[in-house]
Amino acid sequence: MTKQFFNLHINLIRALTAMFLAAVILLGTSPAMARLDELIVGNKYISPPVALVEDDNQSLYEVKPGDTLTDIARLNGISLETLALANRLPDRDHIKAGQRLKIPSDCIVHLVQPGETLLDISKLYHVNVNVIAARNGQADPNTILAGQKLMIPRSFPALGPPPSRGLAAGWLSWPLYGAISSPFGLRDGKPHEGIDIAVEEGTPIRAAAPGRVVFTGSRGTYGLAVIIDHGDGLRTLYAHCSKILVAEGDPVDTTTVLALAGNTGKSTGPHLHLEVLMNGTPLDPLNYLEQEHYYG
Ligand SMILES: [Zn+2]
Repeated sequence: MTKQFFNLHINLIRALTAMFLAAVILLGTSPAMARLDELIVGNKYISPPVALVEDDNQSLYEVKPGDTLTDIARLNGISLETLALANRLPDRDHIKAGQRLKIPSDCIVHLVQPGETLLDISKLYHVNVNVIAARNGQADPNTILAGQKLMIPRSFPALGPPPSRGLAAGWLSWPLYGAISSPFGLRDGKPHEGIDIAVEEGTPIRAAAPGRVVFTGSRGTYGLAVIIDHGDGLRTLYAHCSKILVAEGDPVDTTTVLALAGNTGKSTGPHLHLEVLMNGTPLDPLNYLEQEHYYG
């Protein structure tokens, strides 16, 4: 064996070793990141047929030592749930320094209902079906399943002048945090005059803005409900409560717990039905709730 041939051989082995090591490092990077191109359906992970499509409304955040997912969500003004969903994190505490997380811009989380298609959901939120599919790495719009959570990019519509001095986009606080199981608008041909936020039974409901309690008690299909008057013709209504904790006439602010969420009245599971009423006319609460949607 000549010396030249020997050197060539050694170089080839070195190159192959380097390639092997690079592959190991790439594959070994954070288990959460390795799952970025996978989709959570129920408790199982399945790989969609195409890679996650990037869009312009997501940026990256590099995890710093000591960061928690809650910190990162708050820092970026998004919900913990949205952050976990955007990064396909199976375990919310499983992040490490140096890991890069996707930070989606303003999103809400929709809880897919039985029989619902991606097209139905796109119509409910007035968001293009392809935008929702891309944001969720959902290659086949026909494969969504009930109970799955989807990120819906929020785009505040041109509202025109606010209906009152007090009411503008982002003016109301979220009474509680959770995935939207039914947005405002026509559903199966019938108007849904508020939004449904799916939560656990007993979750505290806070006032969306300062005001005064004008109704508490049982109210037909609404079940146990609370109505707050905020002045200037604006009222908010909280329905399907399990327990009411305020009385008519009480002044409230956004820290006041009005009631506990429940399943009373015409309801198929614990949730808050929230209405925003301007002089008695229901408005889409998503247009007025603050953009920052913290969770947990
Ligand atoms: Zn409802």
